[in-house]
Amino acid sequence: MTGVAKQILLVGAGLSGAVIGRKLAEAGHRCRIIDARSHIGGNCYTERDPETGVMVHVYGPHIFHTDDAEVWAYVNRFAEFMPFQNRVKTTARGAVYSLPMNLLTINQFFGKTLRPDEARAFIAEQADISITDPQSFEEQALRFVGRDLYEAFFKGYTEKQWGCSPTELPASILKRLPVRFNYDDNYFFHRFQGMPKDGYTPLIEAILDHPNITVELNTAFSPDMVDAQDQVFWSGALDGYFEYKLGRLGYRTLDFERFTHHGDYQGCAVMNYGDRDVPFTRITEHKHFAPWESHDGSVCYREYSRAAEPGDIPYYPIRLVEEKALLEEYISLAEATPGVTFVGRLGTYRYLDMDVTIREALDTADAFLAAAAGEKTMPAFVKSPR
Ligand SMILES: Cc1cc2nc3c(=O)[nH]c(=O)nc-3n(C[C@H](O)[C@H](O)[C@H](O)COP(=O)(O)OP(=O)(O)OC[C@H]3O[C@@H](n4cnc5c(N)ncnc54)[C@H](O)[C@@H]3O)c2cc1C
Repeated sequence: MTGVAKQILLVGAGLSGAVIGRKLAEAGHRCRIIDARSHIGGNCYTERDPETGVMVHVYGPHIFHTDDAEVWAYVNRFAEFMPFQNRVKTTARGAVYSLPMNLLTINQFFGKTLRPDEARAFIAEQADISITDPQSFEEQALRFVGRDLYEAFFKGYTEKQWGCSPTELPASILKRLPVRFNYDDNYFFHRFQGMPKDGYTPLIEAILDHPNITVELNTAFSPDMVDAQDQVFWSGALDGYFEYKLGRLGYRTLDFERFTHHGDYQGCAVMNYGDRDVPFTRITEHKHFAPWESHDGSVCYREYSRAAEPGDIPYYPIRLVEEKALLEEYISLAEATPGVTFVGRLGTYRYLDMDVTIREALDTADAFLAAAAGEKTMPAFVKSPR
């Protein structure tokens, strides 16, 4: 390498910490990665269930999908990926439907045999065109698909997922008409989709496997660790770095109720439950994420969503008006903290898919290498949390 090797501390051994660490290690810098958990991988962590042999997505189901050819090449460099497309079903009002809402869903729900153009016209008739300027998620959904589909497929699920009425959520959540007028039930639109053959943990293990990287697990951050470092990358919670001194940024957390089954419990990987009186949002049957494997037993997770309390794992940032105001205050604190760059889903308080996390981590590492070459300091954020 040209220039002096820097000593870098990366807090968090999830995708953000691993990808930034790898790129800096390859450029000759020394990377110490710590994680408070007993394992690497952050929320992407997978492990084989000892009882059934099934690969379990411990923090909820993770499907890799991207349009970013460089990110796809990056993950394939470290692990073998198997083709995988997510085909989600939903149970609502005593019947099972196909998601995302498509021609099969519409025909089943309304008991019709519509072709694409007919369905398009039919949905346009359902739409509530009296709503000209939708302000809330509810108004937006009613404007797009009308009351029947909204109540069966959006209302209850959204209330359970976000713990509030869809009238309180912004219209921007539903940007496009959420209906496909064909029988395509592939959940994602992206060009590249797949699942690492042996789960995500070996993928991240391979990224971390470099002589310039040391990983310390069961090691929570403490402020005295910063002293000996040229730069810190923080992929923990933004408010957590400041010990929540201005209050807590709101998150939803998830509770997973694990159960096992002999054989095939539900015939698909993800079954949503749209009805409000079913307390969980979905059931995940993990073995269907690895259809190339064969197991007699099965491991399932019933998934419940609720507001995160101190000590809970933060999953989904809430980002409503109140949280955004507090976020601004933490951004100001972060910008006044030299030597620390906040990264990843928790460090920037945003929901990030894995491909975006990797893209941002690669860009962040590039920004550091450019800054180091020019003897410049790193900003608090390479990707704005706003
Ligand atoms: C339920 C769920 C399902 C998802 N499904 C998908 C999917 O299907 N497809 C997809 O592309 N993406 C999915 N994602 C997104 C994916 O999980 C994220 O993109 C990814 O985990 C972000 O990685 P990260 O390293 O930024 O954060 P994390 O994975 O959260 O890693 C941060 C790490 O920092 C550690 N840490 C925090 N604070 C400290 C501290 N003070 N000291 C030491 N260590 C600390 C934590 O223990 C953690 O290991 C899903 C997310 C959720 C919540």
